Amino acid sequence: VDWSAGAAYLDGAFMPIADARIPITDWGYRRSDVTYDVVSVWDGAFFRLDDHLRRFRASMDLMRFAPRESDADIRRMLHRLVALTGLREAYVAMDCMRGRPRPDQRYHPVNARSYIAAFAIPYVWVMKPDVIERGAHMIVASTPRIPDVCVDARAKNFHWADMTAALFEAEEKGADNPILLDLEGNVTEGPGYNVFCVTNGVVATPDRNVLEGISRLSAIDLCRELGIPCEVRKVPVAELREADEIFVTGTAGGIVPVTRLDGRILGNDRPGPMAERLRETYWRKRKEGWLAEPVDY
Ligand code: PMP
Repeated sequence: VDWSAGAAYLDGAFMPIADARIPITDWGYRRSDVTYDVVSVWDGAFFRLDDHLRRFRASMDLMRFAPRESDADIRRMLHRLVALTGLREAYVAMDCMRGRPRPDQRYHPVNARSYIAAFAIPYVWVMKPDVIERGAHMIVASTPRIPDVCVDARAKNFHWADMTAALFEAEEKGADNPILLDLEGNVTEGPGYNVFCVTNGVVATPDRNVLEGISRLSAIDLCRELGIPCEVRKVPVAELREADEIFVTGTAGGIVPVTRLDGRILGNDRPGPMAERLRETYWRKRKEGWLAEPVDY
């Protein structure tokens, strides 16, 4: 069996990634009724696995998923997945979704059981490494983020029509990635990352309508450790447009500086000093084993 492209777990069974299949009649597939989480493995160790497992369980509870696996089962399963691939750097995703409603019942989520699928593949970057080096070129998307009274952003979910439209808009405008606002014009997040801005040495990131990113939490922790003031609050788009620096955070990339917003060049078109300091500290600490759980190979 060749596990080099990745390993998958589907409702109790392990298999090479290419063999994992989701039935197209599943409620999860047909109605985007899925929650998920993604944790990274770097230097043979999971990063903040406890935090990811806690968030995954909170997402499942919010979306009324009750799979048979306990958190301890999921942890063991993720270790086994990475061990099967032998990868030292991996992108490890776990999903929970509803299956096919019982055929003799109406097509309704109450008649479908929830199950877990997961996979480990070589580490994926949300942006290409050369873009991370030069700093990302972003746009403020014209599509607003779906309000969290409709879809709770804290439960990591597959309602990505707004994000997908924004990704296409960024591409059409020659930018790398988008940032989405709420209906009132406050900053929310983007496809795969939380957003931070820096003004006069103070870091700020939105408190509402966002996923509570584990990398966001790490950036906030690093600010505290380095004595950098960091405010978690409403961030109006005007503040973002006038910021000295912008950076984004996510599992697939860590801390990523932004050097242009809607064509405006920030600073000298190079990653800003605050973003660089946080990014360097983040990777240095990770290399030193910060909140790392070695994979049971
Ligand atoms: N917001 C959204 C919408 C995301 O998909 C992600 C990626 N998981 C993030 C924020 C960043 O979260 P994390 O740092 O936990 O990867």
